[in-house]
Amino acid sequence: MKKIGVLTTGGDAPGMNAAIRAVVRTAISFGMEVVGIEKGYSGLCDRSFVKLTSRSVSGIINEAGTFLKTKRFPEFKESEVRKKCYKNLLDESIEGLVVIGGDGSARGAYQLSSDFDFPVVLIPASIDNDLYGTDFTVGFDTAVNTAVSAVDKIRDTATSHERTFVVEVMGREKGNLAIEVALACGAEIVIVPEVKMKRDEIVSLLKEQERKGKTSSIIILAEGAGKAPELTEWLQGKLPERQIRYSVLGYIQRGGSPTYLTRVLAAQLGAAAVEALQKGKYPLMAGVRGEEIVYVPLSDVVSRSKDIPHKHLEIIRNMAI
Ligand code: ADP
Repeated sequence: MKKIGVLTTGGDAPGMNAAIRAVVRTAISFGMEVVGIEKGYSGLCDRSFVKLTSRSVSGIINEAGTFLKTKRFPEFKESEVRKKCYKNLLDESIEGLVVIGGDGSARGAYQLSSDFDFPVVLIPASIDNDLYGTDFTVGFDTAVNTAVSAVDKIRDTATSHERTFVVEVMGREKGNLAIEVALACGAEIVIVPEVKMKRDEIVSLLKEQERKGKTSSIIILAEGAGKAPELTEWLQGKLPERQIRYSVLGYIQRGGSPTYLTRVLAAQLGAAAVEALQKGKYPLMAGVRGEEIVYVPLSDVVSRSKDIPHKHLEIIRNMAI
């Protein structure tokens, strides 16, 4: 393979830049040319191509976001649009593509690859850690650490004022981020979309914890399981004697310099993605399981769903005493 393309798509995640750098430098070390495709699948459609050299990716390993930019592009679900993209790849003599993105990006990558038997490899990058087949996605560790540091600060004020705080973290469909943040912060309660929790149960838990001498508490709420202002108002109505406040962490979870773990994963998966293309292996996702870098068929990634760490939920619950 002489020339490959690389793009970032979907929601941004810290470490996308480090992953691009790994792809570009590995490919160049193998004697390949690399084309950067701007704004994800949208740039593939508009031929927004830039030649990337080793120097193009200097000084970005420590920067969050993606210098190639990202954009949601629902049109990519249409087969005619994908056909145009495929033609653009051929016209540019691009023989393989590395897609860096999350769950939706994986679907797009699989569609493009299976429509035209075109070599595509995915690097999972998402703050949600919601892709089947990999223990971790690029960006997850950084997002968890960002949220943990914010919740620690909220804990300081919650303790001083003897308040309960509802902290809303990202995760529209998946509670992985919320669970890890809750475990790392010693939160008393975590609410995620995958586990139905009756609101009265939250009230009972808070009352029980109070009986045991807890004067403040933290509830971590995944955004897909409810909205912090509304839940706070409801809880306040049920527990009028208690001071209940909320905080929505929001977009800070997408930013910040990637952690060591995020950077190392980006380097490993970037290298693995290019190696797969070089060996003619596709359509795949490069992922990590335990200590091993693994290749997972994209057909599995898009058809199966990743489970949440139920054991962690149990630990959180057992420790909230
Ligand atoms: P993420 O990859 O972070 O989950 P999205 O869900 O927005 O983000 O997906 C990124 C992009 O992938 C979309 O904007 C669209 O271009 C493409 N995409 C998503 N789902 C599909 C699909 N079913 N078929 C083809 N392309 C898709």
